[in-house]
Amino acid sequence: MLGAMEAPVVMVGSDAVEVERRLLAGELVCPCGGGLAPWGHARRRPVRGVGDLRPRRARCGSCSVTHVLLAVSCLLRRADGVDVIGAALLAKATGAGHRPIAVWLERPVSTVRGWLRAFAGNAETARSMFTGLLVRLDPLTGPLPVRRGVVADAVEAVGACAAAARRRLGVLGAVSPWQLSAAVTGGRLLAPSLSAVSINTSRPLGGAV
Ligand SMILES: [Zn+2]
Repeated sequence: MLGAMEAPVVMVGSDAVEVERRLLAGELVCPCGGGLAPWGHARRRPVRGVGDLRPRRARCGSCSVTHVLLAVSCLLRRADGVDVIGAALLAKATGAGHRPIAVWLERPVSTVRGWLRAFAGNAETARSMFTGLLVRLDPLTGPLPVRRGVVADAVEAVGACAAAARRRLGVLGAVSPWQLSAAVTGGRLLAPSLSAVSINTSRPLGGAV
């Protein structure tokens, strides 16, 4: 179970106009399979690297649960876009420390250290989650190269999954590997609840594409 403090989230694309169109057209679905209808907005918040977001809320006509529609460019409760955070994780996987990464990305050292620690805590879960998805997307895929540790292995698995999704689905032109990771994890790549996330393998990208 996810914590009571975490609103149910449905991942959507980054284009607010397109999200609105799909919501009104009934194209966005709840994890239960029911159709989502507009239900106001969540609190406006700035996301560095993305812009000012005012996420849509939507309510399921079947199970009556209200969801926040979170853009795949974001992670839950992180003030930076997932591509910036992913750049830090990739740098860490190649051996960089949090201080040079913070200078490079022009973010506070404490913020970058927080991302790296949170991801390190989730790395084994993420590695296993993305490796499993990779096999589903591409059953003929070979074993991934073993990197220098579980963080690097997890980053490798995210990248391999994105490449496989692009080959298999052919719909990822506008979705980066890290946005894919946000979509697959329901925005919880760095959240303590990642281990409770179950991938919808028939629709791993949710409403994101
Ligand atoms: Zn539902």
